[in-house]
Amino acid sequence: MVCSGVVQVRYRYRIYPSPGQQQALAKVFGCARIVYNDCLRLRDEAHAAGEKISDTEVQRPVITLAKLTPERAWLGEVASVALVQACQDARRAYKNWFDSLKGRRKGPKIRHPRPRRKHGRQSIRLTRNGFARHGERLYVAKVGDIKVEWSRDLPSVPSSVTVIREPDGRYYASFVVEREAAPLPACDHEVGIDLGLASLAVTSDGEMIPNPRFLRKAERRLRKAQRVLSRRKKGSANRARARRRVAVVHRKVRDARLDYAHKTSLRLVRDNQAVYAEDLCVSGLARTRLAKSVSDAGWSQLMRCIEEKASQYGRTFARIGRFEPTSQVCSACGAKDGPKPLAVREWTCAACGTAHDRDVNAARNILAAGRADSLNACEAGVRPHLAAAGAEAGTHRSAA
Ligand SMILES: [Zn+2]
Repeated sequence: MVCSGVVQVRYRYRIYPSPGQQQALAKVFGCARIVYNDCLRLRDEAHAAGEKISDTEVQRPVITLAKLTPERAWLGEVASVALVQACQDARRAYKNWFDSLKGRRKGPKIRHPRPRRKHGRQSIRLTRNGFARHGERLYVAKVGDIKVEWSRDLPSVPSSVTVIREPDGRYYASFVVEREAAPLPACDHEVGIDLGLASLAVTSDGEMIPNPRFLRKAERRLRKAQRVLSRRKKGSANRARARRRVAVVHRKVRDARLDYAHKTSLRLVRDNQAVYAEDLCVSGLARTRLAKSVSDAGWSQLMRCIEEKASQYGRTFARIGRFEPTSQVCSACGAKDGPKPLAVREWTCAACGTAHDRDVNAARNILAAGRADSLNACEAGVRPHLAAAGAEAGTHRSAA
């Protein structure tokens, strides 16, 4: 594995726009949202008419010509770089959906991009000509110099920034920067991990990575706040307050989960030269697990953190397409033991007599598959045969 010298990462800071700047930002958020939605509509119309439409054919009517009309004249009052980026965002969202529709994109089916809404998270993306660092402040075109809490130093000059207003009313600037990779000394341990049934993840070493208690508590609070919100009358002050409350709890859950994912992934990447995980997008099996949304959200975040840290520290991370239903095969002798209902947590291999924990056995199979994959990749691009997995209770699938 080659350790490339530079990795791209995001750095996020809290920012404190003045009341006037908040108004200016609200205007750009609104304009970017309208442009984004206009782009989607235009592409939808072209798609329905069976026409191909180029990027300039979208951008011109949606920005340049729209500014000349009385209904959209106010688009001229904000920085056009934010509007052009909104067009780009819409283009990418549309392309992802379209490629997914045509089967050109691996992974889970992507839904048609939804129009951006006034409530909820607002954001604009700016490239270098739309922002700059003015001393301790962040200059945003046509908004001004915004106060930033520089909680850590930026490692390099950022190539773009996303200015965000979260539903709880906080503002953030998220920079994309390049950072030097800092490879850790090599170690000879490797690990496979599987999404556990009773825990967040299980490793081939037999370690259970739990869904921490504080997270479960926070999630209960979130559900409660959402219940309160659903009971409040539309348009009332009580409802606005309840919505803010949901946003605050949401933020706390998100922050807690992210923090946990960072710590767990750092440990896994530091202790292992290679981390292999099951690619949930590959198998098309029906999902039968309970309470999946909670563990799934945590799982994909953990995977993203591992991926990011592996490239930062010069370690290997690979997602494994299923060779075999991982919980049916004995990781000790390779015998296929047949499907097992979800309730079967432990089983003994009929061929070799090894006693298995269901999840740990699956993680060991993932580790073996990952090693075979990387060996094969070395041998002149010979790809392993990806057998379609049979119906197996208790496995997961991606399409959500
Ligand atoms: Zn066996």
